[in-house]
Amino acid sequence: MIEKNLLKIKHLASIREDENYRFRAFLKGKDDKIIDRIVQRLHLEITQQIDCTLCGNCCCVSKPRLHPEDIMVLARMENMTPKSYQDNYCEKSEFDEIFLKTIPCRYLDEKKCSIFKNRPEECKSYPYTQKEKFTTRLLGMINSYEVCPIVFNLMERLKEETKFNL
Ligand code: SF4
Ligand code: SF4
Repeated sequence: MIEKNLLKIKHLASIREDENYRFRAFLKGKDDKIIDRIVQRLHLEITQQIDCTLCGNCCCVSKPRLHPEDIMVLARMENMTPKSYQDNYCEKSEFDEIFLKTIPCRYLDEKKCSIFKNRPEECKSYPYTQKEKFTTRLLGMINSYEVCPIVFNLMERLKEETKFNL
């Protein structure tokens, strides 16, 4: 059964923190191509059962990184120049990466992204479970486990399928 209750997910994440780090070490010893095949199948199964437009939890806790093309699209939507958009709505990291600066995101309307079709590339990619080389992103997955129902359910199914903890 797919778990979508965000409070329950957060609670289980706090209880399972050690377990998730042990799972990370367990997966590091596995064939990454086999893990990718399982993860990509699970990603399809799970994302068909979770509607991001009814969740929006990642938009409440993280700031998406913006590429220049994202800034162009967002600035055009706001009738602003890219520079003015960046000055008003973005911040720079110490590595000169540009992020949207408000949390929750200024485009979150209740639980739904109000610019869903034009959302930044990083928003489209999150939580990255569709990408190859899953075993190289396990720290990020552990961080997202408490935030994102897709990651929570995928990690739990992956524990079962790899017979972790048996
Ligand atoms: S742009 Fe949309 S998907 Fe991206 S963080 Fe904001 S509300 Fe969420
Ligand atoms: S990516 Fe995860 S946290 Fe973000 S809206 Fe979709 S299910 Fe919720």
